Amino acid sequence: MEETRSTCPYCGVGCGVVIEHDGVQITGVRGDPEHPANFGRLCTKGSKLHLTATPVVIQHQRLREPMKRSVRGEAAAAIGWDQANREIAERLLAIRAAHGPEAIGVYISGQLLTEDYHAFNKLARAVIGTPHIDSNSRLCMSSAVVGYKQALGADAPPCSYEDVELADCVLVSGANPAWAHPILFRRLEAARAGRPGHRLIVVDPRRTETAELADLHLQIRPGTDVALCHGLLHAAIWQGWTAGDFIASSTQGFEALKALVREWTPARAAQVCGIEEADLWQAAEWFSTAPASLSLYCQGLNQSSAGTAKNTALINLHLATGQIGRPGAGPFSLTGQPNAMGGRESGGMATLLPGHRDPSKAQDWADIGRLWGVADLPGRPGHTAVEMFEAAARGEIKALWIACTNPAQSMPDQALVRQALQRCELVIVQEAFAHTATARYADYLLPAATWGEKEGTVTNSERRISRVRPAVPAPGQARADWRIARDIAALIDAGLGRAPRLAAQGAEELWLEHREATRGRDLDITGLDWATLDTEGPQQWPYVKGPTPRLYTDGRFAHADGRARFTAKPYQATAEAASAQRPFALTTGRLRDQWHGMSRSGSVPGLFAHEGQPVVRVHPGDAARRRLAEGELVHVRSRRGELVLPLRLDGNVPPGGADIAMHWGEEFIGAQAGVNALTQGAFCPDSRQPELKFSAVAIEPA
Ligand code: SF4
Repeated sequence: MEETRSTCPYCGVGCGVVIEHDGVQITGVRGDPEHPANFGRLCTKGSKLHLTATPVVIQHQRLREPMKRSVRGEAAAAIGWDQANREIAERLLAIRAAHGPEAIGVYISGQLLTEDYHAFNKLARAVIGTPHIDSNSRLCMSSAVVGYKQALGADAPPCSYEDVELADCVLVSGANPAWAHPILFRRLEAARAGRPGHRLIVVDPRRTETAELADLHLQIRPGTDVALCHGLLHAAIWQGWTAGDFIASSTQGFEALKALVREWTPARAAQVCGIEEADLWQAAEWFSTAPASLSLYCQGLNQSSAGTAKNTALINLHLATGQIGRPGAGPFSLTGQPNAMGGRESGGMATLLPGHRDPSKAQDWADIGRLWGVADLPGRPGHTAVEMFEAAARGEIKALWIACTNPAQSMPDQALVRQALQRCELVIVQEAFAHTATARYADYLLPAATWGEKEGTVTNSERRISRVRPAVPAPGQARADWRIARDIAALIDAGLGRAPRLAAQGAEELWLEHREATRGRDLDITGLDWATLDTEGPQQWPYVKGPTPRLYTDGRFAHADGRARFTAKPYQATAEAASAQRPFALTTGRLRDQWHGMSRSGSVPGLFAHEGQPVVRVHPGDAARRRLAEGELVHVRSRRGELVLPLRLDGNVPPGGADIAMHWGEEFIGAQAGVNALTQGAFCPDSRQPELKFSAVAIEPA
């Protein structure tokens, strides 16, 4: 029996795992006691990872050879890699010649390793020449990215997991780490147990398992987070709880924000949010006056048409009260996916370039052109996720290359997404799993290696880079994602009569190219190498002479003048409102034991013990008023689509609310598209992240 140390492929906590195997088959998994994210612990999902790699799963769930679907709607047939690569390169070249490089879009994933991200970034921007590369991290973290950049000057979460243990007050906003980040939540539970004066405030419209632990649960109306933060800041200013010296020495823009929040008295904010005014005052006092206050936030703030405003409103609170840059203090965004951070660092998104550069700046394109040795890069930002599928639905994007993600389930407004996939002339789906909803739309299916078979790195929520290592060979003809991209890129370059622009021979070479793009930047990792990661373990960036556990400790921020910016954004309502026709505010979220579209976690029967079927949850009072009963089948209708689901009565859902887990797709609810049949593509104007947390729906007997 052999053991290989690697990283869990599920959430952004980024736990270390020890894979047990015999060189051919994975037989077990346990937590890595030396990994600083989890110190040996694993949650239910992580502890069952080996069951996603059994011979039965590999036989029935994995894509093991390249496939071609000659006629849409019919079965795909196996072809060899040579034929698949040649035909894909020829078809991409033909579309490029006829319509220009911008007729091709590349849609990738926060599940990819940093090395894969770097390869796809070069494939799209340097080889194909399209600006249209984006990631499913757009649905996950882009509001946090823009919030950090606007407020602090760089997309860099300033905190560490140890701050969860050092904080005196923790504000969890729009997150349910008890289910979505379980091992971090265990650390929070343990920290509270040892500190009697510890305060936990949870802001969430639902009474979640995280809220159950709180000293104070602010059960706000969905979408009113900005009003709450403005009210909290008003209270802090009124009571003199702000940090005047810090505001004067380290920030800009406080007077404009102060003028904005003057109107947001605690009474008004409490009324808009639907909470008690006294609770708002209490939260303001605890957060502002604690020796160290930390906020943990996730999709409740990010997945919103006001996502950036929600992020910056919370960061305003930290800056105004000086709760940043010290042990236990700071705004700490939790990443949903295992490598959303790596994608941000390597610039594999339409609004980012490598090394936290900005595609709206000519100088930043020039930097990347010099690093890559390419003079004809696109030179502008591309379409973000929703925009890319809208452009495909209009017929402007004619080819989509989709890697390691399942947009025919996970994107909002499925009717539009599926129309887009049908309209494309060419759909390439690069996947480890054979039966995703998106695979049905593919003209070519390319088998990818996955967890336990791949080599590279990922970065977790606390900027910690960990190694991912292969324990067993990939099944059949499956290959590393970066290699699939590189081999087709080489044929495209040959077709254009030029030398290969993506020529790396291995994952470490790709990582070294990525590392060079960080030189002199806020995330500089030029002092780090794989040998150090292997001998010293996972490390936090920036890493020039050593790791950096905490940022901005000297009161200097990443804006050119060293000052953080207060951002005075007004509160705005959700993109659509509940109405007489659609009176319920539908939100989506994670279950404790499932992951994304269940392509991996859905293969483990034991993970259905926590929740065994898709349901729509509503408050018992709402059900009684409509004479709806537990277990009854109901229609759930939005402007965009309809689902039929069993009703679950749940007092943890607020009156007027409805809740459907994000995970269930066609495999589990028949021909229905899952909750994203109902959700909307309306997005934040700054981050372009769609509003997955609010859709107005009607619920009626089926
Ligand atoms: Fe994996 Fe996240 Fe669970 Fe850790 S907390 S074992 S990273 S799913």
